[in-house]
Amino acid sequence: MAEYILLVADVENSGLLSKSSLEALSAAKRLVESIPASRFAVALVGEKVEAAMDQVATCGADRFLAVEGADFAQSRYGTDALAVEALVKAAQATVVVAPANSRWNRVLPGVAHRLNGRVDTHVTSFTIAGGNLEINRWYYRQRMEATLKRAQRPWVVLLESGFLAAWIGASGKAPIEKINPAITDSLRRTSAIGIKAPVSDQQTIRPEAELLFVAGAGWTKKQPDGQTHVPDAEKLILGFIRKTRSSLGSSKSLVDLGGEGQAILSFLSHLNQIGQTGATPRHAKGLSTCCHGEEPHTVGWRFISERRAINLDPNCGWARGKADVLYVADAFKVITLLNEMLK
Ligand SMILES: Cc1cc2nc3c(=O)[nH]c(=O)nc-3n(C[C@H](O)[C@H](O)[C@H](O)COP(=O)(O)OP(=O)(O)OC[C@H]3O[C@@H](n4cnc5c(N)ncnc54)[C@H](O)[C@@H]3O)c2cc1C
Repeated sequence: MAEYILLVADVENSGLLSKSSLEALSAAKRLVESIPASRFAVALVGEKVEAAMDQVATCGADRFLAVEGADFAQSRYGTDALAVEALVKAAQATVVVAPANSRWNRVLPGVAHRLNGRVDTHVTSFTIAGGNLEINRWYYRQRMEATLKRAQRPWVVLLESGFLAAWIGASGKAPIEKINPAITDSLRRTSAIGIKAPVSDQQTIRPEAELLFVAGAGWTKKQPDGQTHVPDAEKLILGFIRKTRSSLGSSKSLVDLGGEGQAILSFLSHLNQIGQTGATPRHAKGLSTCCHGEEPHTVGWRFISERRAINLDPNCGWARGKADVLYVADAFKVITLLNEMLK
């Protein structure tokens, strides 16, 4: 079935599009190329859209639609939902593709409802079967994968990052068509008064990082000298994270220790937890340290392409097919040496 595909993306503070928006653009292009007689348009929302439109001017879209203005500088449900509703109607889109970021995950399900369409969130890939779109997503904490197709249109698809390479192409001059939805004061009831975020060197979760560094409970356990060395562990882990700009993950046991009144690594929270009841990040490489590699933890490594682990125990879970390489070694010593080398 021929589709009219609309890429919906938000303009970053830099004035350009994020990597995940460019990945969604790659997805829109791939759909157009794979579904006969299909076409696509780009739709941007932001305070100023020109630079971002020019960034993707040569992507091959039919139309470059935009909702622009101060009302759209920051994420706000009321104004964002109206903007996308107007864009989908203007394009008469049958499939809407957007990056699964916090802005669109919150807004687009409501837009699909307003348009009497359907939405699928956390989509991790898609296939074309007999010229028709089918999407893939995981359920039950990444344990079951489903393939779905839908007859209802418009079909809104929120794509997780990391499944396609970001679109790259020459910039140019895009012919922007501006859409002006009528924004009333009642839609402006919510206003963002600022952003509270950790200062950048305290930020340990970095979805864009090449490497995921995982700390396990072993860092807080008694070591061969019969003592715990939690302050040393803190220094070694933070030193490694800062030098490599990698993202910090944790096992559940380690983040739970705080609640059990034990010595803990102060910079870890449940947001760092990887696994069945934690996150399933997408990094090219992963390095696990002082973590046993049990199934409820390693299930969160499903999308990590190259996995390595450092553990004193040659019979740990990583040795049983969970890692590509297991270093049977003392992580305190290995990370001390690595940090020296990284100087
Ligand atoms: C329903 C359910 C859901 C769960 N969900 C999750 C989840 O989402 N994420 C998760 O992580 N867990 C989860 N768990 C818990 C999981 O089963 C494990 O208990 C947990 O992952 C163990 O954490 P750990 O490997 O850090 O700690 P431990 O099992 O205590 O392992 C510590 C490891 O450190 C090693 N070690 C110690 N010192 C050193 C050293 N100097 N150098 C190298 N290695 C060293 C030891 O050999 C040991 O293997 C879940 C469990 C259940 C029942």
